[in-house]
Amino acid sequence: ERRQLNRLRREPSRTLDGVDIRLWANAESREDVAEAHALGAAGVGLYRTEFLFLQRSELPDEEEQFRAYRDLVLGMTGRTVTIRTLDLGADKADRAGLALRHEPNPALGLRGVRLSLANSHLFDVQLRALLRASDYGPVRILVPMITTREEIVGVRARIDRLAAQLRSEGHQIADEVPLGAMIEVPAAALALPGYIDDIDFLSIGTNDLVQYLLAADRNNDALGDLYTPLHPALLRMLRGVIRRANARGKQVAVCGEIAGDTRFTALLLALGLSEFSLHPGLLLEVRHTVRHCDLARLRAAAPSLMRARDRADILDWLRTNTVA
Ligand code: PEP
Ligand code: MG
Repeated sequence: ERRQLNRLRREPSRTLDGVDIRLWANAESREDVAEAHALGAAGVGLYRTEFLFLQRSELPDEEEQFRAYRDLVLGMTGRTVTIRTLDLGADKADRAGLALRHEPNPALGLRGVRLSLANSHLFDVQLRALLRASDYGPVRILVPMITTREEIVGVRARIDRLAAQLRSEGHQIADEVPLGAMIEVPAAALALPGYIDDIDFLSIGTNDLVQYLLAADRNNDALGDLYTPLHPALLRMLRGVIRRANARGKQVAVCGEIAGDTRFTALLLALGLSEFSLHPGLLLEVRHTVRHCDLARLRAAAPSLMRARDRADILDWLRTNTVA
């Protein structure tokens, strides 16, 4: 089985009917990046920068961050890397060298871009490091936990100001550093038409989107059964976002765990998704599955998927439409 998968290292992630699907890697470590590169990932679709900040008492300064991002970019030898700005808070707050205030309801609190905007020095240091790394290869900046258009517009203005500042200091930075929003908050999915022209690309974080859409804590085992992507409301939300992005010519990926779960590959393809971002260890399995999918047939089966009333209906659809 492994040996067979290994043969796919140099094969395209192409459906039976000849459509190329982009498989990006979610990468955190040097090993992930090397593996992503070796397995033919399109690039890095999600680099979680929290790992630079966690489990230490001092914050990484601009130089340290710059070197980490530059090495990531160089490691992917010209393939695009998508670096997410700090997503601390809620489930990612472990000794961050930041005096994170105790919050009664951290999942709904000062996390992700909210925390960055509330700590402008911290945010500026990270964005400067990211912009400097863009001189070494294609970099995209991805912003977590976007809820409002104002946040996106604010981040864009901040990037423009910092880019001008860096240039005036004599730094080289790329002409284009695309800016993307993570869709993790239902409001950001529903309000997408209002700000889609303000962003360059989208990445759907289904781990959090499921949590916030279903009001079900992603880390509470007692809810095990309720916290699931197998809900008609999630399918509708995914379909809406993917359709809108495709219609506007904006790249859209799913980067939550479901992107690396072959049980969901056919479903995501049926919804119109053509970019997946997943752990490199799952890349060959998903490629294998993609290569056995008939995209035209799945797209034709999308209306029956959208008629699903509950989990059982979705599971039925998956049984009928999933290939070995
Ligand atoms: C997500 O929420 O789906 C996501 C990819 O981000 P994280 O798991 O880091 O919250
Ligand atoms: Mg998330």
